[in-house]
Amino acid sequence: MYFVANWKMFGDLRTLNLLDKVIKFSKTNKKHKFKIVYCPPNTLIRPLSRRLKKTKIEVGAQNCHHSYEYGAHTGQVNSSMLKNVGAKYVILGHSENRQLGETDNLINLKIKSAIKSGLKIIFCIGETLKERRTKKTNQVLKRQIEKGLKSIKNKSKIIIAYEPVWSIGTGVIPKEAALIQAISFIKSRFVKKYPKILYGGSVNANNADKLKKIPNIDGFLIGGASQSPKKFIDIIQKTII
Ligand code: PEP
Repeated sequence: MYFVANWKMFGDLRTLNLLDKVIKFSKTNKKHKFKIVYCPPNTLIRPLSRRLKKTKIEVGAQNCHHSYEYGAHTGQVNSSMLKNVGAKYVILGHSENRQLGETDNLINLKIKSAIKSGLKIIFCIGETLKERRTKKTNQVLKRQIEKGLKSIKNKSKIIIAYEPVWSIGTGVIPKEAALIQAISFIKSRFVKKYPKILYGGSVNANNADKLKKIPNIDGFLIGGASQSPKKFIDIIQKTII
């Protein structure tokens, strides 16, 4: 099971001290198989990866520019620069960035660049509330997968994160039947071996044991609750133990 922490725009150097509890937890629970990935803001990738050097916890970024080369792109960072400072993963296609104008085509270019850099990609897809209400969920997921992964043959570095937009940060999670349907639809879009599929959206210690029972969920992408080591550890414990 994967537990991916999306810290969003949260944290400074002092915040890293909070992670001691999670490091201790991961070291003392070796008999359970799980993977923790922290995706902090770019400013913390280097110090965090240094701190996690002797642990199994890995570090990822939350986005990258689509160009693999250096260039005149003020304020941007590309995938190889992220790799260079210790990132092993990158979250791409997050709805908070799609809402800022990221298109499926742009996400596709970012994924290709991240693959070239040797990063693993946590590729976020999910429908808005309006799309769900108008029964367009499958259509949206199909489009996001097809366009986002267009002409990418080797999908071994891709992890899908199904994140219904209306569930992110709202405390509301999909009904069991709807989630089973969405995950199996995603799975059906892959002819051969399908990538790992995470669920993201308001995961907490109270709903984790319910969510873990959904077939074919390989872990969670966790936003708000990942900022608290206690809440994050509680989610892992509820899921794996
Ligand atoms: C997210 O933003 O990826 C997310 C899952 O957020 P939250 O857990 O806060 O809903």
